[in-house]
Amino acid sequence: MVEDEPALTFRLQRVLEEAGFVVDVAYDGEEGWYLGDTESYDAVVLDLGLAKIDGLSVLNRWREAGRTMPVLILTARSRWSEKMAGFNAGADDYVTKPFEMEEVVYRLRALIRRASGHAQPELACGGLRLDTHSARVTLDGVPVQLTSQEFRILAYLMHHAGRVVSRIELAEHVYDRNADHDSNVLDVLLGRIRRKIGAEMIRTVRGQGYLLAAPDQ
Ligand code: CA
Repeated sequence: MVEDEPALTFRLQRVLEEAGFVVDVAYDGEEGWYLGDTESYDAVVLDLGLAKIDGLSVLNRWREAGRTMPVLILTARSRWSEKMAGFNAGADDYVTKPFEMEEVVYRLRALIRRASGHAQPELACGGLRLDTHSARVTLDGVPVQLTSQEFRILAYLMHHAGRVVSRIELAEHVYDRNADHDSNVLDVLLGRIRRKIGAEMIRTVRGQGYLLAAPDQ
């Protein structure tokens, strides 16, 4: 989230974290641009009126550098010409202040799902189902209880089912940038998820990472 209003940032960060997101915050355009340029994010919430570098320039620079993460502009600028400028700079969505916190959560989930090629809010792999809105996971119709960390790992693997996800990529997407990327923790969490959904669902590809796929695929 790149946003310079501390009160809004604090509230939105809390709502996003309660919804299961891991959030990094930048309070000016320069720091925001740098983070988006160097870290791998599932999505960005970007304000337009920012110190140092304005939001539109930040977005232009990312897109010119080939950064493709979904970007939702969150701004008080509600004129059509301003919205058009945002979309022309490469925005994927545009929400004007004041807004419902929950609306941002729903829009982000849809953007992230679309960015990984999923049209439906429910992701499926074999007998495993994950509802991205309710954060419910079922296996052959039976609810699977997961901690928030386990859920984030499984959700990331399900968004990218059928493709090998490296350990670094997985760690980057389930922890914030200040977290200690202890790979033992990742192993422990993957072990717990495997016990809950069946060890054969998540394959370890030696030297490459992890692959979530239905056992018969
Ligand atoms: Ca602002």
